[in-house]
Amino acid sequence: MWAGCGVDYINAVLRSEGAPVMLPFGADKESVRATLEAADGIIFTGGGDVISMTYGEEPHPKSFYQDPARDEMELEAVRVALELGLPILGICRGIQLINVALGGTLYQDIPSQISDTIKHYSSGLAPMLLHTIDIEPDSLFARLFGSDSLAVNSWHHQSVKDPGKGLRVTAKARDGVIEVIESDNNKPLLAIQCHPEEIAVDYPHFQKLFDWLIEEARKYAK
Ligand code: MN
Repeated sequence: MWAGCGVDYINAVLRSEGAPVMLPFGADKESVRATLEAADGIIFTGGGDVISMTYGEEPHPKSFYQDPARDEMELEAVRVALELGLPILGICRGIQLINVALGGTLYQDIPSQISDTIKHYSSGLAPMLLHTIDIEPDSLFARLFGSDSLAVNSWHHQSVKDPGKGLRVTAKARDGVIEVIESDNNKPLLAIQCHPEEIAVDYPHFQKLFDWLIEEARKYAK
């Protein structure tokens, strides 16, 4: 069992002058609420698959690394964060988790469930920009990156299928796979399928996502 967090996430928050605090898997509801009441923002990080039964689907044979304790704690954390109005950044598993928490569904295995797909699970030896995403104009994501497309890294075999309530899809890969969602109502909620924490040193424009979160956290704190 493992209840940690990749150091890349911690360093990315530190580079944006945030003060990272970790919420362990298995934390009970009272601890989740108490921690989030003391926080000014939250990142939902990468990891294994959200258990399919949480969004009403039987498991695909290729689903893996499920952890019921993590699902339970993080789904509760999404609900509390939304209730408090905390700024939220979702990364990889994070975009999938937030979507499920808001009533959305997932493709459980892109290569076997979507035809004519591109490669989304990198087998490169080092972090690399693997594919393009096309960005919706007039979105928070477009404003942050000032562009209508972006090259991203990619380490996922699942993706958002039906977006949850209150979410807008604001970037897709060229095979139609959903890569970014955000609030459809100007709430500080942004979630991305790629791993900006892994490449923000080599490609500093990805640091903008963490800068955005910390800026929103400062506003929230006031
Ligand atoms: Mn991808």
